[in-house]
Amino acid sequence: MQRYFVAAEQFGDTEIRLVGEDAHHAVRVMRSRPGDKFIVSDGQSRTALVEVIEAAPTLIIAEIVEMLSADSEPKWAVTIAQSLPKGDKMELVIQKGTEIGAFAFVPFQSERMIVQYDAKKEAKRMDRWGKIAKEAAEQAHRSRIPAIEPLHSWRELMKSIANYDLALFCYEREGHQAHGRGIRAAVGAWFAGRTEDSHPRVLLIVGSEGGFTDREAIEAEAAGAVLVGLGRRILRTETAGIVGLTCLLYESGEMGGA
Ligand code: SAM
Repeated sequence: MQRYFVAAEQFGDTEIRLVGEDAHHAVRVMRSRPGDKFIVSDGQSRTALVEVIEAAPTLIIAEIVEMLSADSEPKWAVTIAQSLPKGDKMELVIQKGTEIGAFAFVPFQSERMIVQYDAKKEAKRMDRWGKIAKEAAEQAHRSRIPAIEPLHSWRELMKSIANYDLALFCYEREGHQAHGRGIRAAVGAWFAGRTEDSHPRVLLIVGSEGGFTDREAIEAEAAGAVLVGLGRRILRTETAGIVGLTCLLYESGEMGGA
């Protein structure tokens, strides 16, 4: 069933209003007519099954039929911090990360970043990324749209580590060394002394195509991050965050099955 995210002010107590591109999509693409039903979420806490009562290409008014539970959201809030990659790789990270269940995304700058950051493109890029996250969240039937934070400097990223319960610094060196910790060991160590139903806010830090310098790894560890390997293969920058997110949500039991 088609799903739309609307701003909180469009989500009333008994009715919702679809406007702009969503109204146009519902009427022109989905051919919505009075009586048709679809799902609407305010992207935070409310999701409802609604029935169209008025349909025009610029405005749809639909009655709330029933409030739905937001059970598609993972219990662990995993944020992917991605060093700005080249081309449209960030769009892939956002799309696949949203489908899998990422809580948020933090693009950041690191020493070996290959792409030249252009501040003038920031607004346009954030707008495009926001659209990708919204569409992916609708397609994945999520109850919220992951936030995309503004581009962080390395310093800002290091400072933000304190805001998370667990920060994992993806470092391929860890994957190769005999003692290299994987995600399971790092998560297990965090849970030691905590109850099973603790739901950590996790930051997963991924380097760009050029990787991290040893100095960055030392600084991240000093800031409280745990260095983790993602296996003995070198993953592309756009693959590593998706793999790390999947491993974490698998560990949390959110990827189906026991
Ligand atoms: N050092 C890499 C190389 O030799 O090509 C360059 C960096 S890799 C393409 C991009 C990022 O993905 C790394 O900075 C790291 O964060 C992550 N990554 C890739 N493979 C990994 C692995 N096996 N274990 C942990 N992190 C990995």
